[in-house]
Amino acid sequence: MKVKILRILLDRWHAVAAWTWDAQDETCGICRMAFDGCCPDCKFPGDDCPLIWGACNHAFHLHCILKWVNSQTPQPHCPMCRREWQFKA
Ligand SMILES: [Zn+2]
Ligand SMILES: [Zn+2]
Ligand SMILES: [Zn+2]
Repeated sequence: MKVKILRILLDRWHAVAAWTWDAQDETCGICRMAFDGCCPDCKFPGDDCPLIWGACNHAFHLHCILKWVNSQTPQPHCPMCRREWQFKA
């Protein structure tokens, strides 16, 4: 009886864990800071540290993705999905 209850709890925990992982889209995949904040190089969120979307629909702080792209030569890839990185027009 006790074992059965534990299993249900574990299943629930896994469901919550999977959901939490999805929600990480709310943070920048490069610096791990929240999108409503700014990258570690900036002190104030807002227009000075905008979000930039790639063609693959992943978003990053402008400063983070610029640093990443500059370090990925000749062809930068999205740090999240490893597709060829292109700035969304
Ligand atoms: Zn960032
Ligand atoms: Zn910044
Ligand atoms: Zn991507």
